[in-house]
Amino acid sequence: MSIRQADSSQAARARARMVDRLRAQGIQDSVALAAMMQVPRHHFVEEGLAYSAYDDTALPIGFQQTISQPYVVARMIELLRAGRELGRTLEIGAGCGYQAAVLSSIATEVYAVERIRPLLDRARANLRPLRLPNVRLKHADGSLGLPEAAPFDSIVVAAAAIGVPRALKDQLAPGGRLIIPVGGNEQRLLLIERQGNVFRESGYEAVRFVPLLAGTE
Ligand code: SAH
Repeated sequence: MSIRQADSSQAARARARMVDRLRAQGIQDSVALAAMMQVPRHHFVEEGLAYSAYDDTALPIGFQQTISQPYVVARMIELLRAGRELGRTLEIGAGCGYQAAVLSSIATEVYAVERIRPLLDRARANLRPLRLPNVRLKHADGSLGLPEAAPFDSIVVAAAAIGVPRALKDQLAPGGRLIIPVGGNEQRLLLIERQGNVFRESGYEAVRFVPLLAGTE
């Protein structure tokens, strides 16, 4: 039997080790960690990579894209949540759907947008067996946000932008937060919090994401 077939105690143990490592790396948000303990990350990568699924690395998911590194998924959720609930949440760059699954148990509603159609189809197939009723996937250019579902209490961008797209700031609810990797070769996490029409920015650690691209394919 393959690792994928057996969400077995073996996968659960690998996940527990991953969560212990995240804690040792400084993630303190127990809600984020508990959510990551639940989601079978090995279901979101090709079977040949399943043995690496709980390592703290990004892995290829096809179409020159990657599933994000567990530390960064946890860190972005921790920064978005600090001192409040996620509420209605928009994810830009659904990729294989992993982070959407993690967000599902923490946020009230999750809208996840992906620009590459076949990847979105894969995310749908990956998420279907998990039966997550509050996750909606959409094929669109997420640099425009998702106007029809705005405003959002939380927006997480899983691809690096050169600048912060104006549409994403505009689609934040009052008190809402946006986390986004900003930069080219050197990127940093940027947290933006909306207070009225004032946007307060704080910078965090260096990260490495695939680029946020315009249009759909
Ligand atoms: N969230 C994923 C990570 C996916 S990698 C996870 O859970 O692991 C980032 C994804 O962002 C890629 O699939 C890429 O196609 C997508 N992306 C890049 N630019 C985008 C845009 N403008 N709109 C929507 N998705 C975009």
